[in-house]
Amino acid sequence: MLVMMKAHATPGEIQEVCRKIEEMGYRAHPIAGIMRTAIGITGNRGPVDATALEALPGVAECVPVSKPYKLVARELREDSTVIDLGDGVRLGGTEIAVIAGPCAIESRQQAFAIAAAVRAAGARLFRGGAYKPRTSPYSFQGLGEAGLQILAEVRAEFGLKIVTEAVDQESLALVEKYADVIQIGARNMQNFSLLKSVGKSSRPVLLKRGISATLDELLMAAEYILAEGNYNVVLCERGVRTFADHTRNTLDLSVIPAVRRLSHLPIIVDPSHGTGRREKVVPLARAAIAVGADGLIVEVHHRPDEALSDGNQSILPSQLELLMTEIRQIAAVLGRQVAGW
Ligand code: PEP
Ligand code: MN
Repeated sequence: MLVMMKAHATPGEIQEVCRKIEEMGYRAHPIAGIMRTAIGITGNRGPVDATALEALPGVAECVPVSKPYKLVARELREDSTVIDLGDGVRLGGTEIAVIAGPCAIESRQQAFAIAAAVRAAGARLFRGGAYKPRTSPYSFQGLGEAGLQILAEVRAEFGLKIVTEAVDQESLALVEKYADVIQIGARNMQNFSLLKSVGKSSRPVLLKRGISATLDELLMAAEYILAEGNYNVVLCERGVRTFADHTRNTLDLSVIPAVRRLSHLPIIVDPSHGTGRREKVVPLARAAIAVGADGLIVEVHHRPDEALSDGNQSILPSQLELLMTEIRQIAAVLGRQVAGW
């Protein structure tokens, strides 16, 4: 159930509706839109009795939600969510955000070399993993907190916003202290206890689609986070597993307009994991912008042949620079801009 407030409803009226919802034993989620505020209701097992709510001042109507997800649904807000990271950096909206960096932080020197290139190319966000979910237990697992400390240095030195992954509760406690955006990886998309924990965090969350997750499953995973009160979630298409073996995963770009129709959350594309091959990253990144993605997350390495993780799919700094130039032109066709310095 959604309570749609009138366009001129006062903050006091909104508060009173929330109080009433809580009094009924549910949780209220007021979401302010450009035109009006909608209040999502969670915690109900059966249908909510709307009569008591509809009678309250400032209420326009109560709308039953047809989908299993409520808070991520487009019905809740017509305008799209824009996540403000400060210093003019945003995820969602008309601007396209580029997040770039190595798969894993390997050393201070490596991170600084790549961060300098990312900044020079014009991107505002740096992504590097300190905790890596690797298929093999013998592969490089990340530097842990030492990697997070390097990321903090990167932010201080280059002014880039930091995106980094939490793989479990233990790493989350540390990642939260260092990151501007917490990444939840594909393998953890249905780790419901981790989703609930990031839902309690004050940090925005980048939620990657699971390797065989349907769109509904992705949206339900995001719903877990919003239901805990964290409304700053950006979705990420990173390819799904199919029979195709010319790429590591099959990048499902059709999910972008599908998400747009169903949800107000921003969605970005990861063409690196989506293809797994360096030469395919730039073409698919261009396509992602053309199809309407709100941004890209791209793996970049200055020495990909020596990378400890995902070197095969990491593009070179020079390729990132060219990609930025190309997507600026594609964005212009769509009436959007690529965020820069
Ligand atoms: C990554 O971003 O490096 C990563 C491991 O991604 P995913 O969770 O999409 O596999
Ligand atoms: Mn990777």
